Amino acid sequence: MIIMKDVYKTYPNGVTALNGISVDINQGEFVYIVGPSGAGKSTFVKLMYREVEPTRGQLMINNMDLSDLKEKNVPHFRREIGVIFQDFKLLSKLSVYENIAFALEVIEESPKNIRKRVMDVLDLVGLKNKARFLPDELSGGEQQRVSIARAIVNHPKIVIADEPTGNLDPETSWEIMKVFEEINARGTTILMATHSKEIVNSIKKRVIAIEDGLIVRDQHRGEYGYES
Ligand code: ADP
Ligand code: ADP
Repeated sequence: MIIMKDVYKTYPNGVTALNGISVDINQGEFVYIVGPSGAGKSTFVKLMYREVEPTRGQLMINNMDLSDLKEKNVPHFRREIGVIFQDFKLLSKLSVYENIAFALEVIEESPKNIRKRVMDVLDLVGLKNKARFLPDELSGGEQQRVSIARAIVNHPKIVIADEPTGNLDPETSWEIMKVFEEINARGTTILMATHSKEIVNSIKKRVIAIEDGLIVRDQHRGEYGYES
């Protein structure tokens, strides 16, 4: 599913963010990525949706070798990955419905299919009655639900979330975590970079800790392991 062998990432300014990472993640796993600020967590997750490319090393995702993925195959690759950000990244002038449908329209689904799939996914995140709202008219938790709906509408095999609860209050964060658990229960692999000690220590999953660009800990049902 995800195989990394000795992956390095050095940015053009000379900063080495990843220093030889090797890891295997199987289909259906739920993995937290933890570690101090600047450790390389974002770089690690950005490799997974090809926002950054490795400087060296091998990276296989969904049986595609990212080390020599051709530019023309990038859209196909990205269709199998859903990405969720701390700041939602919704299009502010489009309705909830349109924000999600957009992801399908670009792959030329029929209007009937689009409608069905958007409404199904809004149902899953509990926002069917807000399809016509604009993002600004929703709470932070609701906006994050929309971004989750958008990320999964193409039925990706992997969902990547970079600090998805970072802008949310604790109660809303728990609700969002329930949505991720539901998506995971349906077989989707989840990779989540997080600073939430409470979440990691309560909803036990695999924990990969990164420090100075290296994996320093990889535990089944692990602990957060830092003070905050
Ligand atoms: P984390 O997500 O754990 O805070 P990052 O992956 O964002 O860590 O950053 C790891 C290191 O790489 C840091 O030193 C950071 O300053 C540097 N870095 C991140 N993105 C870039 C970039 N686009 N250009 C140069 N350096 C970067
Ligand atoms: P670039 O390759 O220059 O990053 P893209 O058009 O691919 O340009 O990406 C535009 C924005 O969409 C970026 O902020 C990127 O982080 C985000 N993005 C890239 N891939 C995905 C994806 N599969 N799902 C959601 N957002 C994505």
